[in-house]
Amino acid sequence: MSLIVQKFGGSSVADAESIKRVAKRIVETRKAGNEVVVAVSAMGDTTDELLDLAHQVTPIPAPRELDMLLTAGERISMALLAMSIRSMGHDARSFTGSQAGMITDARHGQARIVDVTPVRVRDALDEGAIAIVAGFQGFNRGTGDITTLGRGGSDTTAVALAAALHADVCEIYTDVDGIFTADPRVVPRAQKIDRISSEEMLELAANGAKVLYIRAVEYARRHGVTLHVRSSFNNNEGTIVYNPTEENSESPVEEPLIAGVATDLSEAKITVVGVPDIPGKAAQIFNIVAKTGANIDMIVQNVSAAATGLTDISFTLPKSDGQTVLTALTAEQTDVGFRGLQYDDQIGKLALVGAGMRTNAGVSAKLFTALYEAGINIEMISTSEIRISVVTRADTVNDALRVVHTAFGLDADDEAVVHGGTGR
Ligand code: ADP
Ligand code: ASP
Ligand code: MG
Repeated sequence: MSLIVQKFGGSSVADAESIKRVAKRIVETRKAGNEVVVAVSAMGDTTDELLDLAHQVTPIPAPRELDMLLTAGERISMALLAMSIRSMGHDARSFTGSQAGMITDARHGQARIVDVTPVRVRDALDEGAIAIVAGFQGFNRGTGDITTLGRGGSDTTAVALAAALHADVCEIYTDVDGIFTADPRVVPRAQKIDRISSEEMLELAANGAKVLYIRAVEYARRHGVTLHVRSSFNNNEGTIVYNPTEENSESPVEEPLIAGVATDLSEAKITVVGVPDIPGKAAQIFNIVAKTGANIDMIVQNVSAAATGLTDISFTLPKSDGQTVLTALTAEQTDVGFRGLQYDDQIGKLALVGAGMRTNAGVSAKLFTALYEAGINIEMISTSEIRISVVTRADTVNDALRVVHTAFGLDADDEAVVHGGTGR
């Protein structure tokens, strides 16, 4: 008997009909003789709608209360799914995150899993039932409060359950047929990838490919969980995310040059203008930024003007951290001695990812040429061993994605199918 963890995203359980369709699929897996644990997201765009509602009440909702509100979304879908399965004559029990033993730290909105004790889930399985667990939520022992794991966090719930229960498979069901070389909503000729390394998937997820949540990929990598991302709308094979460090035999003979391209419109750019070009200034600036807890991404420092001895330092960060960081820097302006700050929230980031880049020259040249030929200006560049990222104007980033996808020969012959979801 195998133990299978299945995660269904919001677009797969958007309405009553979808819930019944998913219930049928779960029952089929059970009938095939497997033990089944399900992690489920809130229906459709429920989480976004609850967030909108909170912001209609107050501009800055209290984090504890926001988590109380948002976790209600998954509570609805888990109960409906369990009811639906029971109506088909199979035993099913739903559990909240805390009932399922998802123990986290106390950071509301971004909690990290510190322990997983799925005793009640295991008991339900032992009694022959299907266990349905609310995704995206946990519980902190110190405060006794309910937490959430960050947007997209149901993926993490599934992976954490798979690791704790030593599942044979962790399947992530969504509204597309797997992981593609680019978001198929933006690039219709994106290609489905059969197998991708967790290393490449981490880079794609970190750079805006929301098909998998970055923390879930990290968790899977650390705990040796293999993921199968596939559609809940058909039975096609999806994409396997494998850990090359775990089993080298699983690695392809030669790594592909490019795995995929991702874009991200959630970042902004801050430029610290007129910074004295003397040792210690960058340290001072980024210490101030670090104290705010903001996660910065790209950093660029200009050559200083000989006449003034002043330089500019630019960096990107999530738009949601923008105001906090601006305030923190302004408070220390005299001490650091910079001239001013510029804030730009109309940027887009594009990242080209591929493990084969490590051993191939000319990838940057090809990327920059494709963008130049499309008349797209590059504002910032950063690279890692297996990634090249550029910042462009926000309104050109989708065009950039399409031309880069074509330039690297990633276009498929047929158009990809997007089965559901609103893309929100
Ligand atoms: P779910 O509700 O199942 O969690 P998400 O909306 O979080 O689904 O993620 C699936 C969506 O991710 C797809 O509909 C697609 O638009 C988007 N996406 C972005 N990049 C990619 C990619 N490289 N491959 C597949 N889907 C992608
Ligand atoms: N419902 C949550 C969200 O929309 C968690 C998830 O779907 O993974 O972010
Ligand atoms: Mg998701």
